[in-house]
Amino acid sequence: MQLLDGKKLSQKLELQVTNDVKTLKDKCGCTPGLAVVLVGQDPASAAYVNMKKKACDRVGFYSITHDMPENISQEAIEKTIKMLNNDTNVDGILIQLPLPAHIDETKLLELVAPEKDVDGFHPFNVGRLTTGLDGFVPCTPLGVMKLLAEYDIDVKGKNCVVVGASNIVGKPMASLLLNADATVEICHIFTDDLKKHTLAADMIFVGVGVINLIKEDMVKDGAVIVDIGINRADNGKLVGDVDFKAVSEKCSYITPVPGGVGPMTIAMLLANTLKAAKLNAQERA
Ligand code: NAD
Repeated sequence: MQLLDGKKLSQKLELQVTNDVKTLKDKCGCTPGLAVVLVGQDPASAAYVNMKKKACDRVGFYSITHDMPENISQEAIEKTIKMLNNDTNVDGILIQLPLPAHIDETKLLELVAPEKDVDGFHPFNVGRLTTGLDGFVPCTPLGVMKLLAEYDIDVKGKNCVVVGASNIVGKPMASLLLNADATVEICHIFTDDLKKHTLAADMIFVGVGVINLIKEDMVKDGAVIVDIGINRADNGKLVGDVDFKAVSEKCSYITPVPGGVGPMTIAMLLANTLKAAKLNAQERA
C-alpha cells in the first residue's frame, strides 16, 4: 500500500503559486485577491477560514474576511457580495458554508460573479463542469484529481464508486471522473447495500462524514481509496470515513486523514484564485 500524500503535493503546488504570483506582480502589478464571507460563530468554519487566510498570506495573495454575525440579514450579505463583485482588488469570492438556517444559500451562491466563483458552486460553473468545459471546479474534487495525477493513477475505464452526493463533494467528483473517462457510480444515504457497490470498485471516493463507513470487507484487493471525509473522533483526533488501519492492508493506494485530501483543497483554492486573477488581469489589459 502506498499513501497518497496530499500534504507533500500541496506544499509543492504552493511553491508554484508563490512563483506565479511574483511573475504576475512583475508583469502587471496585480496581486491576486481572495474575499471570504464568514457568517456566524461555527468554530469549524472559523478554523477553515483561518487556514485559508494563512495559505493566502504564504503565497502573497491579498485576502480579506467579511466576518458577519449569526443574525445578519439576507439583504446585508447580498449587499456585501455585490460590492465584492465590483471590487477590482478581489479576484475570488468564497462564501464559507454552512450558513445559518434563515439564509438562502442558493441565492447567495448565484449572486457571486461566475468569473470570481473560485469555489465553483455557481450554476454557470457547475454547468461548464458537467459539459466538460473549462471553468471553476470545486476545490476538493479538483484536489483529488491532482493527487491521482501526481501518482500516475489513471481513472480511464476504471470502475469508480463515489460515496456521498453533495454539490460540494460527491457530484463534482463524479463529473470530473466521468470527464476523465471513468465508469462512475454514485452512492448515497438511500443506496441499498452499499457494500455490493464498493466491493466491485477499482477506486472508491468517499465523502460522507461517517466514521468507519468503509470497512475492510467492503473493499476489493488492490483498490484505490480516496477518503474525503473529515470527522472528529471521541479522542479528539481527526479521522476520515474509512477504517484506515484495516483497509490500508488491502488496498493499493490510500489517502490519510489528515494529510490527504484536506491540504489539496486549500491548494486548489489558491490555484483557482490565481487562475481568476490571471483571467481578470487579461480582461483589464
Ligand atoms: P453533506 O452532508 O452535504 O453530504 C453527505 C452525503 O453523504 C450525502 O449525499 C448523503 O446522502 C451521503 N451519506 C450520508 N450518510 C451516508 C451513508 N451512511 N451511506 C452512504 N451515503 C451517506 O456533506 P459534504 O459537505 O459533502 O461533506 C461530506 C464529508 O466530506 C464531511 O465529512 C466533510 O467534513 C468532508 N469534506 C472534506 C473536505 C476536504 O477538504 N477533505 C471538503 C469538504 C467536505
